[in-house]
Amino acid sequence: MLEFAETYNAGRKTLFVDVILPLAIAKNYTYRVPFELNDAVAIGKRVVVQFGKSKLYTAIIAGISEHAPEKYEAKYLMDVLDEQPVVTDVQLGFWQWMANYYLCNTGEVMNAALPSALKLASETKIVLNKDYEIDRSGLNDKEYLIVDALDIQPELTVSDIAKLLGQKTVMPILKIMFEKNLIMISETVNERYKPRKRTYIKLNPIYQHDQMRELFEILEKRAPKQADVVLAYLNLSRGGKKVSKPDLIEASGASSAVIKALVEKEIMIAEDVNVSRLFFEGDNDPELTAVLSDEQENVLASIREQFEQKDVVLLHGITSSGKTQLYIKLIEEMIASGRQVLYLLPEIALTTHIIERLRRYFGESIGVYHSRFNDQERVEVWQKVLDGSYKIVLGARSSVFLPFADLGLIVVDEEHETSYKQFDPAPRYNARDAAIYLSALYQGKVLLGSATPSIESYYNAQNGKFGFAELKTRYGGVEMPQIEVVNIAEELKKKTMQSHFTSVLMDDMKQAIERKEQIILFQNRRGYAPVMMCKTCAFTPKCINCDVSLTFHKSSGKMHCHYCGYKEDSPTTCPACGSAHLEYKGFGTEKVEDELTVLMPEARIMRMDLDTTRAKNAFQNIMNDLEEKRLDILVGTQMVAKGLDFADVTVIGIINADSLLKYPDFRANERSFQMLAQVSGRAGRRGKQGKVVIQTYDPSHRVIQQVIDNDYAALYKNEIDERKSFKYPPFYRLIQLDIKHKDPDMLYQQAEFLGTELRKHFGDRVIGPEYPLVSRIRNFYIKTIMLKFERDADSLNKAKDIIRAVLLQFQTTKLSKGSLVQPDVDPY
Ligand code: ADP
Ligand code: ZN
Ligand code: ZN
Repeated sequence: MLEFAETYNAGRKTLFVDVILPLAIAKNYTYRVPFELNDAVAIGKRVVVQFGKSKLYTAIIAGISEHAPEKYEAKYLMDVLDEQPVVTDVQLGFWQWMANYYLCNTGEVMNAALPSALKLASETKIVLNKDYEIDRSGLNDKEYLIVDALDIQPELTVSDIAKLLGQKTVMPILKIMFEKNLIMISETVNERYKPRKRTYIKLNPIYQHDQMRELFEILEKRAPKQADVVLAYLNLSRGGKKVSKPDLIEASGASSAVIKALVEKEIMIAEDVNVSRLFFEGDNDPELTAVLSDEQENVLASIREQFEQKDVVLLHGITSSGKTQLYIKLIEEMIASGRQVLYLLPEIALTTHIIERLRRYFGESIGVYHSRFNDQERVEVWQKVLDGSYKIVLGARSSVFLPFADLGLIVVDEEHETSYKQFDPAPRYNARDAAIYLSALYQGKVLLGSATPSIESYYNAQNGKFGFAELKTRYGGVEMPQIEVVNIAEELKKKTMQSHFTSVLMDDMKQAIERKEQIILFQNRRGYAPVMMCKTCAFTPKCINCDVSLTFHKSSGKMHCHYCGYKEDSPTTCPACGSAHLEYKGFGTEKVEDELTVLMPEARIMRMDLDTTRAKNAFQNIMNDLEEKRLDILVGTQMVAKGLDFADVTVIGIINADSLLKYPDFRANERSFQMLAQVSGRAGRRGKQGKVVIQTYDPSHRVIQQVIDNDYAALYKNEIDERKSFKYPPFYRLIQLDIKHKDPDMLYQQAEFLGTELRKHFGDRVIGPEYPLVSRIRNFYIKTIMLKFERDADSLNKAKDIIRAVLLQFQTTKLSKGSLVQPDVDPY
């Protein structure tokens, strides 16, 4: 009886829901629930609401109450989309924290957190899902109409579809169509992770021993190169071993055309095998049966022990010391206890290499999540994390937003990486720091790992806030690379430089190529030349939208802006004085590649930077070419510093270390050390000792010495002293305000206003407003105000409240018209 009364009353109550809209608005909005939906609403479910004049959005219910909003009359919500919540309570708490901490709105966090397909809006564009054949007989009338319309016009907005069906909300229909894989969100469908294939070669079984001899005699006469291949095959396949095509090419010295010919004659058979599947077949995979070294075993025990007391442990382990091996052990233990694991990696390190390595261990229970996935795939991972079928997620920074049920461990690999920080748009969060907060919500543990930890994390470990463990030797006794510093100035004087290469680097490269080993060259700039200058009047071409000089790109023959993408033809005479004496200053990866082709015409050279990896699969293709030895020299930007782990790379050249060291930023030394140590770590893994050549005008620079000595402790000591005296993190917290406006005078006034207001509260903790290094981007003039605060959380929270209030006050003045103010907490 009581039960009946309750349900009856529930049906009659007037309910209101607070929802998070995927917009940059300061507060949650309240909607009234129609009676018939009273039972359907729940926190974490999606609803369809109207906001503004006529736009519809998917919003998330963050609260349910019986209180009408005071300031406005609540509109009715239009529909509830989900049977079960798609966002958990923990996530909502996490969003709220992120918005508070990073001075943004929960709507902005929601936008970053949810895959687009989970947050349809009127403007969202829909296309057919081309991956599936559509069975039209299985469609209902409305679905049929939509599919038909998308056949004629490949892209429709949600509101187009509403018009088409003559009804106000179509989101429930679209939601079902998503689930049936009929439609997708229109977006540039990016490169996806595909299991890598490797070609294996075997001899056609009809050639048994006796026929073998005959075959051999014929081949020796008519096609000696093919005979070599067969011979090499017989050698390699001894004991029933499988023979891969690259191995066969290497052992026989034949080209792949020769193998192709043999396959065409059906003497040999080629077979494509998924690399990940391979490892399930073999039972002698060295890693699966890996036995930890004593050092690894001790460190593992120490991490376990420290987790009893501390929530976060920093693992400092030099490159190739077996950090990943330890992660795997800890992950295994965590899943065995029934909890989930998040393994965070920088986007660029999420290569098939590491994915396959983990798939070997964890098979189907591991999900992968990163920006190269399309939305459909992202939603699939989302659902599988939510329902618990994924025990482990391997992902880039945005995977901190996944709906984990019970997250026991987060591994943050390469924790020092700047790419954990999102620059734009808000939330400008650091995934490493966010992971630490997230983990606390689940009462889980965090393991930070790096060969070159951030100064902040190391400081936290030193003062006992984090636990600390250290792997000091490379696994299997592989030696650290030999590092040689070469003074460019001296070689210039002796006239032994060839273009940008010192004689030392040239010799090492030549020797490596003779030994059939590979080389990586690092130059931290893309394009051909960053500046073009008139020798007569010193004019340099600048971007029309930004305050930067244009970079010459030889491949396009144009001058490019690296900030906004603007391009123009490169001038043949000076636009200012008409002189024909134009010269290029500085050099980028394109020029290095270009000159190398002249100097070493026999070498196979490739370039890896933003320009060569834009196309689908391009990045992976270069990696494959490197691994399968289709190239000798790889020239690249910092992209080459990460995630590459190839046995045959034995020489690494840093073309110009000075461009790193001279960067005007308080983290410049830390960054340079990390970059140089990480790039060097690519040399001579697995077996061979590598050699690193660092070219510089300043060989005695202390950071270079610290890299040579592999002395992180020395770097740390220097840096921490400087940070203390100059009031930088980890002793102080920084909050940066970027103020942008199209009109420089308006900007000036706005920045002055904000500077003055903030100074009233914070005094000389306020620095600026100042023009940043690049003071105009995409036609917006920029000024920045930097705030420095003492570390304790209380005063920091108060400071953020004040900043928020000042910004709100500013927004209500006339002065703020057309301005953009972007707070960045813990800027990088
Ligand atoms: P890191 O992550 O510190 O750079 P990895 O975990 O990638 O180091 O280890 C470097 C190499 O050594 C890898 O090829 C890995 O397979 C191998 N390795 C590390 N530890 C072991 C072990 N205990 N048994 C077998 N191989 C190992
Ligand atoms: Zn000129
Ligand atoms: Zn520009």
